[in-house]
Amino acid sequence: MKIDTALSRTRVARDHALITPESHVPAPLVGWEKSQAITLIAPVMGAGFTQHLVTMEAGAASGAPSEGVERFLFVLEGEVTLEADATTTLAPGGYAFFPPGAEHVLRAAAPARLFLLEKVYRPLDGHAPKVVIGREQDVEGQPFLGDPDAILRPLLPDEPGFDLAMNSFAFQPGASLPMVESHVMEHGLIFLEGGGVYRLGESWYPVTAGDAIWMAPYLPQWFGCIGKTPA
Ligand code: MN
Repeated sequence: MKIDTALSRTRVARDHALITPESHVPAPLVGWEKSQAITLIAPVMGAGFTQHLVTMEAGAASGAPSEGVERFLFVLEGEVTLEADATTTLAPGGYAFFPPGAEHVLRAAAPARLFLLEKVYRPLDGHAPKVVIGREQDVEGQPFLGDPDAILRPLLPDEPGFDLAMNSFAFQPGASLPMVESHVMEHGLIFLEGGGVYRLGESWYPVTAGDAIWMAPYLPQWFGCIGKTPA
């Protein structure tokens, strides 16, 4: 027996979870062809949404979300073709949001990897979300609370019809959140690059690219970027 097979950085608590790559267990996704998903965050954990890492093989196609469910996807590796009102090619950094019932199919001609988040949409009278297709590279970054070393890129419009926000957040080495946050919103997160230390409640975790984190509402949270590359 190799003793390191018994070790993992994965931790799951009532109010937070850190899921690290050595713990990943893939499974098929209902309705998807030639695709496998690692479900990183899910309601059985206490979350109000589901966050997957999806691997599409050559010839793969997506299935539709369940009724009343909205979907956000972000391409991590490879290229996918998105068939909606128009046909769009999404490369890494490309993303799309679909309100419940917005028809679309995603196809991969070659292997691709996606971040996929789904949630039961909570309607608000007089407001409706719309389909959004974009590229992270085209979104203007905003210094977070005035810090030019912590750049936030909002990927979705800040409008009442949207019941969630999706952001990319880039920290330069040595940058950190300016305080320990505690707020009503919950978070799902995936580290795309770099790493650092995350405070989740009273626990402190080293984190790196490929890690996923769930934070329940009001969980005290803080992040500091360490290492020599941005996170
Ligand atoms: Mn927060």
